[in-house]
Amino acid sequence: MIRLFCLLLLVSGLIACDSHPTPHREQFLVFGTVVEITIADAPKSKASAAIREIEQDFQQMHDQWHAWRAGGRLAEVNAAFARGETITVDPRLTELFSTATDYSVKSDHLFNPAISQLINLWGFHGADPATWTPPSDEAIQALLAKHPRMTDIQIRGAELSCANPAVKLDFGAVAKGYAVDLALQKLKQSGIRDAIVNAGGNLRVIGENHGRAWRVGIRHPNGKDVLAAVSVTDGEGVFTSGGYERYHEYQGKRYAHIIDPRTGYPVDQTVSITVIYPNGAIADAASTALAVAGQAEWQRIARQMGIRYVLLMDATGTVYMNPEMADRVEFTVNPPPPVVIQPLEPA
Ligand code: AMP
Ligand code: MG
Repeated sequence: MIRLFCLLLLVSGLIACDSHPTPHREQFLVFGTVVEITIADAPKSKASAAIREIEQDFQQMHDQWHAWRAGGRLAEVNAAFARGETITVDPRLTELFSTATDYSVKSDHLFNPAISQLINLWGFHGADPATWTPPSDEAIQALLAKHPRMTDIQIRGAELSCANPAVKLDFGAVAKGYAVDLALQKLKQSGIRDAIVNAGGNLRVIGENHGRAWRVGIRHPNGKDVLAAVSVTDGEGVFTSGGYERYHEYQGKRYAHIIDPRTGYPVDQTVSITVIYPNGAIADAASTALAVAGQAEWQRIARQMGIRYVLLMDATGTVYMNPEMADRVEFTVNPPPPVVIQPLEPA
């Protein structure tokens, strides 16, 4: 956590270098990460009031959409699905389900929030890292055989039901992005036009920074550097996923928290994926999907998901980008990494 905090300061540092005068900035902890909100066009009191409202809203979303802690609405949805019952949810949750289903299909189910049982089996729902051991292949295959998918869920207005009792939701790959989208709406409703909402290095901006485009950092998977800087325009989001963020270690081998739903095993070839896209929920879903897709399939999956800017770093440290992304990225590490530029596949 301390490492992540320093990294965020580094990212903020990049922003601050580009700003005059310094925008108002506050941080709080939620979703198990540091959320930082930067506001350039409002007096401190107005900015602070808006940030407090978003903090409360984020805390509520965290409590309601938590994947494994009892008491939230998502836990109730999971329990209802396990019993084969229908359940009514609020409009925000319906929207999250719809977007997640849509982009799960577009990603060929590489982004699959229905695999919560598998994520739990790998110990990413709060297992003690000190005593953790990898699950057996038998247990993994038994869960895979049940084929949990978002398309097993029926959404009728506010009512959700599910034909497959093995479907259990974990929105860890998309909820932060959706929360960032809702925060931007809230800021705009408060009359704020120039801001960044950054949830653990995943961010969206509105407006600009005193007449200049917001300039933000892309995290380096080594956890301490900023890999590159990029200018972002009104509404755009920069989202990064990587196995290095959370992992277990057993007998010297790392097991990352992003699971390939095809094999049931953690992703290990892709170290980091960054996408730029003007919607947080979709950018978040896409960064996870493309981490699974890896070097072999990122171009096709990005195209299917409608993503136009992608940067992938593989386990050897080589960076793959499409030409449009390469035009925007300025490396801040010295020496810069080896780069391979490849176009997105035609639709
Ligand atoms: P992110 O950091 O956005 O890539 O999200 C990673 C989190 O999403 C993990 O900690 C899991 O809770 C969950 N997750 C892991 N693998 C997948 C997957 N293939 N599809 C959807 N969610 C996943
Ligand atoms: Mg994600």
